[in-house]
This record gives sequence, structure tokens and C-alpha cells, in this order.
Amino acid sequence: MIVRLKNNIKTRILNGHPWIYDNEIDSVENAINSGDIVDVFHGGNFIGKGYFNKNSLIRVRIISKKNTEINYDFFYNKIKAAYAHRQILFPGETTFRVIFGEGDGLPGLIVDKFEDYLVIQINTLGIYNFKTTIVQALINIFKPKGIFEKDDEKSSKKEVFEFTEGWIYGSGPEIIPFSMNGIKFFSDTMGQKTGFFLDQRINARENMAYVNNLNVLDAFSYTGNFGIHALKGGAKKVTFIDYSERALSVLEETIHANGFEKERYEIINANTFDYLRLLDDAGTLFDFTIIDPPSLAKSRDSKSNAFRGYKELNLRAMKITKNGGFLSTSSCTQIIYEEDFKKIIYDSAENTKRKPTLIFRGFQSPDHPIAMNIFETEYLKHMLFRIDSLENY
Ligand code: SAH
Repeated sequence: MIVRLKNNIKTRILNGHPWIYDNEIDSVENAINSGDIVDVFHGGNFIGKGYFNKNSLIRVRIISKKNTEINYDFFYNKIKAAYAHRQILFPGETTFRVIFGEGDGLPGLIVDKFEDYLVIQINTLGIYNFKTTIVQALINIFKPKGIFEKDDEKSSKKEVFEFTEGWIYGSGPEIIPFSMNGIKFFSDTMGQKTGFFLDQRINARENMAYVNNLNVLDAFSYTGNFGIHALKGGAKKVTFIDYSERALSVLEETIHANGFEKERYEIINANTFDYLRLLDDAGTLFDFTIIDPPSLAKSRDSKSNAFRGYKELNLRAMKITKNGGFLSTSSCTQIIYEEDFKKIIYDSAENTKRKPTLIFRGFQSPDHPIAMNIFETEYLKHMLFRIDSLENY
């Protein structure tokens, strides 16, 4: 079944970008249904195999540049190659993201490996149609004790396929224990996204180097990834804030699993925006402030709102950070580019009369590969600053 592209398409498609929008298509064979595998042609040239969905503005997502059958072997080989890549990147580690959608040439599929368990997320109808095949390949490659499917409800509605949340192979605990960077963690099958944010693993580890004996604030902590790294790194005390009670209860389990003493942590169930203001009003200062807010923008339309939200947070975070202290700040929104993020820091510093000095700049860990020809695969920005007073300049 054939989809033909218009003559004047953008070079991005020829350069391997897998998304083909409705307005880039010249003709679609009549018999094609949503979810079908199609051959994409430009003029007389074969561009790739993809899957079609008339319910999505991205009408076709290319999954192979080769004219090959999309079957068990295809998925087996792609997953195996992605796994081999992780084994090179994280020698000795047993937990990582194995498949990061477009970044691994499999748009619509996310697979996280937490030691003996897999958590998968299906985001498109095209991938949903191959679920049985993909799960079989995963079983054969990883021999997992269990596979948990944790779909994104919005995507399942938009793409029109059955939303699933539960064990689809074997079984396992509600919170899956695993270790990373030598620390015990849990991935929450009832939690957010795939249960744990593996993408911050390198940034959180980098932060550890500077926290010894410091008072640390971990705002938007979720289950405590950053703050637990800080406790492990010798922080005197970590204050965690999140508005999700569920996340904070998994955080407590994590603290107990690692045996940190009671005096070294405080857990606050609050709205971070409000709580940062309270801290500022009370004149409370931290040596090391971490903010890792959720994505404040989902689409380009909300970019200016997101910009304002990040600005407010970074400004408040700077205010409650001691001179000579640190600010660890992240943005996981693809819509906010690195230049925007720098501007947010610049503006916040100007407003608070502070002088941030960059110590470390990070991004999503390489088990979430950034494909340079698919700029949307890059989303996480992380910066660690030393914060000083402008007067000390
Ligand atoms: N730092 C975490 C990930 C944070 S995800 C890690 O590395 O694992 C964002 C978190 O912010 C979620 O846990 C969510 O519950 C929380 N959150 C979102 N908006 C919030 C708000 N206004 N106040 C407090 N917590 C919030």
C-alpha cells in the first residue's frame, strides 16, 4: 500500500526525520486504513516503511528506511540493537530505558528495563497493532519476570487504541525495586509516566559531588531521585517537596530501603509554587536548591506561559539559595530550547541581583537518545549553577 509525497517536501524527511504530516502527502491509496503499514514514495524513490493514522496530524511515522517486511525479526533486531547500545553506554548496569521511540527508530514505543522487569508504553496505533509481536520479542531478548504496560491515556484516545495499564506478561510488585548509581530505588507502576524518571540519572549523580554536608531542597521531588542522590552524597539534610502523596509514600520507602536517618530528611506535601514563596517570606535559605518541574508546556501555543512559569520558579529558587550556594535546575519541555532556558536564568538573576556561574550542563541521559536529525527527540535541559550575590562581583 502506497503513500506518495508531494514534490516539494522538506529535506528533513529525506534526511531521516520519521514524521510525515498530512499536508506533505500527495496521495494515499484508497484501501489504506489507520494502523496499516505503508510504503512511502517521493517521485519514483522509495523513502521508507511507516505506519498510517488518519486520526493524527502526523499521518505517517516511518519505522524503516529499508524496504523490509515489518515482522517479528524486524522488531527483534531493532530492540536487540538498542539493547546492545545501552550495554556499551552503561556497563554493568541492569536498569535503563531500552527503547526511546523516535530516538531508537521505533516511534510510538517506550521500553524501560528495571532489572528483571520491563515497563512499556505504547503511544501510537501503528505500534499497538504489533503489540503481540513486540512483546514476544521482548520476552525472548530479556527473559523478564514480568512486563507492565503503562500507556498514556491521552495518546490512546488521540490515536484511537485500547488504553492498558497492568501486567501483560508474568507479574511483579506494585513498586519495582532496582538499583542505579549504587543506590536503591523503586519504579512505581501506579506512578507517573513509566514509574521512574531515568532520564535524570547522570545529572542527579553529577549533583552528588557538591552536596557534602549541605542543606538541600529537592522541589518537585517525585519519588526523590535527586534528593536521594544528595543523601547518598553526604548532604546534611534534604527537604523534599511534591504535591503527589503517592510519590511521597514511595519516597519514604526509598529512604527506608537505603537506611537514611530520620534527622537527615523532611518531607513536605505541598504545592511548590506556594511553598517556595512561604520559604522566602520566612527568610529560609538553602545551600543547594534543586528544582525539576514537570513539563509546563505541551505545545508551541503555551510557550509564553511556560516561559513565565519557569521564570517564576527559577527566580524563587534563586531567592532562597544562599550566596555561595548552588542551584540545580531543569526543564523537561521540548518547547523550551536551551537558549530560552538561558534567558530564563539570565532574567531571574537580573531580578534577584544574583550572579549564577555555570558548573555543569546536562541533558537527558543517553538511554534516551537524541537523534540530531529529529530535533524533537531533545527535551531535557539541566544546569547546575553556583549562585553568588552581584555585589560580591
Ligand atoms: N525530580 C523528579 C521528577 C519530577 S517530575 C525525578 O528526578 O524523579 C515532576 C514532579 O512534580 C511530579 O512528581 C509531580 O507530582 C510534581 N508536581 C507537579 N506540579 C507540582 C506543584 N505545583 N507542586 C508540587 N509538586 C508538583
